[in-house]
Amino acid sequence: MGVSLTFYSTSLIQSVKGWEMRKDLPLELRVSRLTVASLKNLCDAKRLSGWSNLLKEDLVGYVLDNLDRRELEDFCTAQEDIYFAENMAKAIKWASGRKVVELDPESDESIVNAVFSLRKSDGYEVYNIRFVNETNEDIDTSCECADHREKAHFCPHQMAVLVKCLQEGVFPLDRWSGPMTHEVEELIQANVFRKRRSRK
Ligand SMILES: [Zn+2]
Repeated sequence: MGVSLTFYSTSLIQSVKGWEMRKDLPLELRVSRLTVASLKNLCDAKRLSGWSNLLKEDLVGYVLDNLDRRELEDFCTAQEDIYFAENMAKAIKWASGRKVVELDPESDESIVNAVFSLRKSDGYEVYNIRFVNETNEDIDTSCECADHREKAHFCPHQMAVLVKCLQEGVFPLDRWSGPMTHEVEELIQANVFRKRRSRK
């Protein structure tokens, strides 16, 4: 990209390398968005006691008090990787369905606007999604859903928009500076581009 990172601090370099973004989230937030089942499994695995009757909020506090940061970070990372891979599998299916993701035709590598709409038993789930990538280094992504607004997840709706962008050639995978893992990259390579080629 021809931009030298020499003058930036380490933390800024981490935040511009998309996948490192989640590490900038406070550990408290990362722990609080784990499910109660995950938190209980963790307590069980660490042979802690006295947590079994705690409600979610207290359980979060308990885990933060009783486990060291490194352990918690590793656990959160593992859970986040599972969330990403599982939801990306869903997102790939959604993106290949007609009309689930509608990309604004003006979308390009620097700004993507999209509408995600999925039919539910009780109506439609509709969210506006936006990716802003003006510098090609620091992508800002947003979705109206609670998973993103309240938990700062790179949610399945945004994943579906990412897949759609790749399918439509809005930008190639190697230009994506947002969240990515090796496993998800393989999932995309195997399912998105293979389909795209076979359709031609
Ligand atoms: Zn969302």
